Amino acid sequence: MRIRYYDRSGELVRGHFFLLEVPLDTQLAVRTNSDSALWTVSDTGTMIYESEAYLQTTVESDPVYGCRLDPKHVTDYVNMRLEWVQLRGFSQLCEFVRAFLDEFVFTTADFARRLVESSLTGLATFDVQIDENLSLLHDPPPLRRLGFQGRNCTRQMRFRVPEPNECPRCQRGPIVCPACQYVEYVCPACKLELVGWTNEPHDRPFTAEIVDDSDYIVEAHEWDGSDFIKGKLITGRALQFLLDAHATPFIAKPCWTNVERLSNEQRRALDAM
Ligand SMILES: [Zn+2]
Ligand SMILES: [Zn+2]
Repeated sequence: MRIRYYDRSGELVRGHFFLLEVPLDTQLAVRTNSDSALWTVSDTGTMIYESEAYLQTTVESDPVYGCRLDPKHVTDYVNMRLEWVQLRGFSQLCEFVRAFLDEFVFTTADFARRLVESSLTGLATFDVQIDENLSLLHDPPPLRRLGFQGRNCTRQMRFRVPEPNECPRCQRGPIVCPACQYVEYVCPACKLELVGWTNEPHDRPFTAEIVDDSDYIVEAHEWDGSDFIKGKLITGRALQFLLDAHATPFIAKPCWTNVERLSNEQRRALDAM
């Protein structure tokens, strides 16, 4: 039984919103992904991975225990932050700075200022303190982390409470919390692995769907009009700015957009993009 799934209903179109990524190796990402023909890939020109400086970071966040039935259930993570930053690699810096972890998007401070001073909305930028510099840049210029401030408008995963909602071996339950949808992937009593994933065959009693980034659906009626939206989403307008600025390296993956339930005003704002 599929207990976690992604609802793909609605009137879906593409081309308004994009997932912004700064891959460690752009060409590898393009070669190894079957969707890459749909992506917008920055002109990397002569800027190859082997010549750039890049970041190794440690990221921390705080769990939120918000379930009304079980205080052990983690319902969210907040205050995601950089704990430690190391600059590695060579001596070139482009507008975007590659990083080993992809939670954040980093730019030079110069390019961050151009973004902030543009007409694009929903962007905050934060200082990046380099704790250790192992790159060939003796005096690295300041860097910034981009904060995507627009309200989250991506459709969430859905959960189906199984019936019976318990481990088939020892009857311990619930597997899916009816209050917060926390999932027990391994039975806490008998240690039976309960959940398998859709990307590989498995013999576990429950299945959770894996959704690719480019399958995400933006609920256009929940969009607050920002160009930089939580989840590293940007609008087509922001993408055009990056292209006009010849910013590099980045990939923009088109998201599906549900345009059902739009007011006339919202539809006009989308069409104007
Ligand atoms: Zn719960
Ligand atoms: Zn069990």
